[in-house]
Amino acid sequence: MPVLKVGSRPSKLARTQVQEVLCLLGQPIDYELKIFKTRGDIDKATPLTAQPADDFFTDALDAALLKNEIDIAVHSVKDVPKILPPGLDIFALTAPLDDTDAWVGPLSWSDLPAGAKVGTSSLLRQTQVKALRDDLQIVDIRGTIEERLKLVDKKQVDGIIVASCALKRLGMADAIRDVLPWEGTPLQGQLAVVGRTKDFEIKEIFKKIDVRRTYGRVTLVGAGPGDPELITLKAVNALGKADCVFYDYLVDAHLLSYAPRAEHVYAGKRKGEHSLAQEELSRMLKNKAMEGREVVRLKGGDPLIFGRGADEIEYLTSYHIEVDIVPGLSSATGIPSYLGVPLTARGRSSSVAFISAHQEDEKNESLPLLIPTADSLVFLMGLTKLAAIVAALKAKGLSDATPVLIVSRGTRLDEQIVHGDLNTIEFLCHEADLKPPALIIVGKTTQFYRRHRQKTYLHCGTHPQLYHHLGRVIAWPMIDIKPIELKADDRQKLARDFDAADLVVLTSPAGVRHFMPVILKLKSLLPANKIFAVIGRQTARELEIFGGHAHIISYEETAQGLFDTLSAIMPLRGKKILLPRSALPNPFLRKNLEHQGALVTEWAVYDNIKPPRRNLPDAGVDGVIFTSPSTVKNFLQDYHRVPAPWTILAKGPVTQAALKEAGYDSKIIYA
Ligand code: SAH
Repeated sequence: MPVLKVGSRPSKLARTQVQEVLCLLGQPIDYELKIFKTRGDIDKATPLTAQPADDFFTDALDAALLKNEIDIAVHSVKDVPKILPPGLDIFALTAPLDDTDAWVGPLSWSDLPAGAKVGTSSLLRQTQVKALRDDLQIVDIRGTIEERLKLVDKKQVDGIIVASCALKRLGMADAIRDVLPWEGTPLQGQLAVVGRTKDFEIKEIFKKIDVRRTYGRVTLVGAGPGDPELITLKAVNALGKADCVFYDYLVDAHLLSYAPRAEHVYAGKRKGEHSLAQEELSRMLKNKAMEGREVVRLKGGDPLIFGRGADEIEYLTSYHIEVDIVPGLSSATGIPSYLGVPLTARGRSSSVAFISAHQEDEKNESLPLLIPTADSLVFLMGLTKLAAIVAALKAKGLSDATPVLIVSRGTRLDEQIVHGDLNTIEFLCHEADLKPPALIIVGKTTQFYRRHRQKTYLHCGTHPQLYHHLGRVIAWPMIDIKPIELKADDRQKLARDFDAADLVVLTSPAGVRHFMPVILKLKSLLPANKIFAVIGRQTARELEIFGGHAHIISYEETAQGLFDTLSAIMPLRGKKILLPRSALPNPFLRKNLEHQGALVTEWAVYDNIKPPRRNLPDAGVDGVIFTSPSTVKNFLQDYHRVPAPWTILAKGPVTQAALKEAGYDSKIIYA
C-alpha cells in the first residue's frame, strides 16, 4: 500500500480528528498529512446562521480528492454536504464521541441573568436557546474553538455554546461548565472519512471503523387504503422480515399478523390525537435502525402521499440511515376505483388533482384554500374543512350542480358514502354523521357511482379471493398456519419415506407450502417420476410454484373427492402413499386408503392455530363463510355464536356437518 495522502483543514481540532480516525484503525498506517483551507476557513465574516453553501467547510478538500492530490479527507460529519460531488463517497462514519452541546462561561447556565450574552454560531442552537430562555441575548460568533473561547476570556460574551466533543478532542474537557438540556445537531461528535468512489481498496480499509455496518434500515411501507387485501406482496414480504413495525391509525390491525416476530408500536396520528409527535416518531425510527433493527414504518395508502413520508426520509438520511420505500395503493386513487368511479374518463375528465385540505401552517388557519384547475378534484384530510372547500370551489366558479361524493372509511367494513352536489353536500354529510378518514371527490365522473349495496361476507379461511363473485368479501381469517419444525433425524426419515413413496398426496395449499421446502432442502432435484395427487386447483397451482406437477387433481375439494378420484383411476393395493398433512388428524383419507390395501405414511408438517381475537364489526355484514371445521371451532371460541341475521355459508359437507353439530344450518358454497 503506497503512502496514504490525508487531507485536513488547518485547525488544531481538524488535525486531531485525523489522528483520531487513524488511531481507530488499530494498525499503524503510512500517511502524509496535507492541509487545505476551505472557503469557511478563509471567509470568517459570513455568519453560519446565514446558511452558506453546503460545502462551505469541504470545498477545497473535495476538489483535492477529485484532482488526486489526496486519497481521503476527514471531516466532522455535520460539515459534509448532503449531496457529495459525483465521484466522492463517505467511506466511514465513526461512532459518536459525545453528541451533547456544552456551555462554557464563568457562570453556570442556570445562573445566567436576563440579557446575558450567549455566543453561538449555529441556527439550530439559537432556536434551542430561544425556546428555553427568550430573555437571553444571542451573539452570532465564528472561528476556531480557540478563537471562540477567547471571546469569553475577553468578556465580549458571557459564555459560548460549543460541541462537547470538540472540547474533549482538544483536551479541554475541563472548560465544559454545563451540558445543555437538548439534543445536539444530528451526528454531532461523529467523524466522516470521504474518498473517491472508485478507490475500493481504500474504502475497504475504513470499512471496519464505519458504524453504518451495524445499522439496520427503515422501510416506509404503504398499507393500502383500508381493506387488508389491498396491500402489496412486497409490503407483506417487508413485514415478514421486520424486527419492529410502527403503524398508524389508518392501518388495519390485521396486517400486523404479517409481522409475527416484530415489535408493534402504535404511532397514532388521528386528527387531534396526540400520540407520538412526528419528531419523536422520527427519532424512534432512527434509534431502532441504529440499534441494527429492520424497521418498517407502515403507513396508510401510499407512504409518500400526504403522509409526512418526505419528513421521515429527510430526517433519517440526515443520520445516514438507509431508507427503502415500498409504494402502496393510495386512498386517493384506490377508493374511487374500488367504487367504480373513474377519476379520468375519455371526453369527461382528462386531469386529476389531489389536494390537502390542510394547506396552511398551524398559525395561519385563515388562508383561503388554493384550488388547482383539473376535471376531477380529490381532497384528503377534508372532512372538518368541508365548508371551506365548498366555499372555495364556488368562489372558483364551479356551479352549484357540480357532483360531489364523500367516502368515509373507504374500502373498510364500516364504509359510508354520501353523494350530492355542491349545494347539498354539507347538509347530507352532516345528516349522515360521517367519520374521518374521508375522501372528498368532486367532478362529473362521480356520477359513475351507483348506490347498489353488495352483500358483504366475512371469510374465515385463508383464500378469500376465491369468493369475490359473492360480493364484498372481507378477509377475516380464523385459522393461521404455523410450520412444524422437524428434527434433523426426522427430516432424514421423511426424505426416505418420500423416496420410497409411489404417490405423494397433498390436501391443501398450506400442506404444499410447508412440505415442499423441506423436501427441496433435502433433495436438490425432484425425481421426475414422483406422482403427486392433490385436492383442488389451488393446491395444484401452489405445487407448480415449487417446481412439482400435480398428476392427479380432485376438483371436488374434499377428502372424499380425492379418494373417489384416486380409487377410480388406479389400483391402490400395495401402493406406498406419503401423506403430509396438518397436525389436526383427519383420519378419513388414511382409513379409506388403507382399506383399499394402500400403505400410508402420514407426516404432520404444519399446525393450525387461532389468530388473535379481533372485535366483530357491529354493522354492515350480511354473512360469513366457513372453510373448515377448525374455522367454525375458532369462530365460536372467540365470539360464542354467529350473529342471528347472518347467512352462513360452508365450503363443503365436512364444514357443514361441523356447523350442524354446533346448531347452525348452512348452505354449501363453491369457490
Ligand atoms: N398516505 C395516505 C394519505 C394520508 S393523509 C394515502 O395515500 O392514502 C390521510 C387522509 O387520507 C385522510 O384524511 C383521508 O382523506 C384519506 N384516507 C385515507 N384512508 C382513507 C379511507 N379508508 N377512507 C377515506 N379516506 C381515507
